[in-house]
Amino acid sequence: MGHGIMMRHCDFCSRGRLRARREDLSFRQSSDLGWIEVRLELGIRRCDACRMADLDPDGDAAMEAAFRRAYTARKRAG
Ligand SMILES: [Zn+2]
Repeated sequence: MGHGIMMRHCDFCSRGRLRARREDLSFRQSSDLGWIEVRLELGIRRCDACRMADLDPDGDAAMEAAFRRAYTARKRAG
C-alpha cells in the first residue's frame, strides 16, 4: 500500500526491466488426500527481455493460503 511501482533491472539478464503484473498461476501439490490442484492470481514481476518471473515477497504466503483453500474444498467434497 502506498508504494510506487519501482522499475528494476532484471537480476538475471541485466538488460530487461521487471514489470509488475498479475498472472494466473496453477500448480499441483501432494497431500494426504492425493494431488491437490491449486489455482490463484499472483502478483509477480516479469522481465520484458528474458521473461524471467520474480514473485512478490508475499507470494509464498499467498500460494500456501491458496493450497489450504483447495485442500479444504477437496476434503469437504470427499
Ligand atoms: Zn531479464
